[in-house]
Amino acid sequence: MGKRSHWREHPAHALRVDHGFRLESFDAAATPGFEGAQKHAERLMERRGADLAELQERLYAHGRAGGDRSMLLVLQGMDTAGKGGIVRHVLGMVDPQGVASRGFGVPTEEERAHHFLWRIDRALPQAGRIGVFDRSHYEDVLVVRVHGLVPEAVWQGRYSEINEWEAQVAERGTTIVKCALMVSPEEQLNRIEERLERPDKHWKYNPGDLDERAHWPAYMEAYQAVLDRTSTPSAPWHVIPADNKWYARLAVTELLASALESLELGWPQADFDVQAERERIARLRSKEV
Ligand code: ADP
Repeated sequence: MGKRSHWREHPAHALRVDHGFRLESFDAAATPGFEGAQKHAERLMERRGADLAELQERLYAHGRAGGDRSMLLVLQGMDTAGKGGIVRHVLGMVDPQGVASRGFGVPTEEERAHHFLWRIDRALPQAGRIGVFDRSHYEDVLVVRVHGLVPEAVWQGRYSEINEWEAQVAERGTTIVKCALMVSPEEQLNRIEERLERPDKHWKYNPGDLDERAHWPAYMEAYQAVLDRTSTPSAPWHVIPADNKWYARLAVTELLASALESLELGWPQADFDVQAERERIARLRSKEV
């Protein structure tokens, strides 16, 4: 990337979880690797959005031609961290036909009757698609751990189950990009309050969200365990400071665009004779006049 991009360090490096990463000393208002201001980020986002749109089209074309590659963006984060905004603003820049977005709420009775990965596995993107998980299988070691919804022996075993499952998914051609959006408790309170101040946001307000804040330290502990135990070479975690929405959106755009670039997908070769087709059109045209 050239200087005009304002990235001093690529977010894939700046945001990737390393050994010894501590959430408790994480600054949710920081903008790691980026040295521009919001206006630079917005301009860059537009440019990379155009790249992203073309890269997505290549992926789609590759899938149509029988290719097996796909992309999966996993979004986790506390309430108000901005997961929905990522889906709207980042994935909103590409052809909606190529994107399969899926949210995971409290499991239904049917889902609860199956293994926790059952509903996740069924939602994986088809070849050629970008899948987005707004919450994911990580809820099964986050909310489930914090609220003790299953015995500890059960959730403790899930970290390695997740690692094994993700390694298989990656092996079958899906590039997994995992992003944990981290908002500070102060900013979260502001965002919850904003929902109360705006009638058009009341539908998003849930009195239970304030109660969930009481469990903040337990959630941070659960997130720390996720980052320590499930950041693997085939599916590393990126921790994204989310107090500045413009930064989080730009960072995810860049992570997705560069993951797609690394697939090095060209346009599929025509499986017909281009020149012969052109000549057919010329003949049709001469008959019609
Ligand atoms: P959001 O709050 O993201 O807009 P929903 O209201 O549909 O979405 O549901 C999210 C809720 O579902 C969250 O409180 C989340 O913790 C909960 N949830 C997601 N997965 C599970 C799970 N496996 N077990 C229990 N609760 C879950």
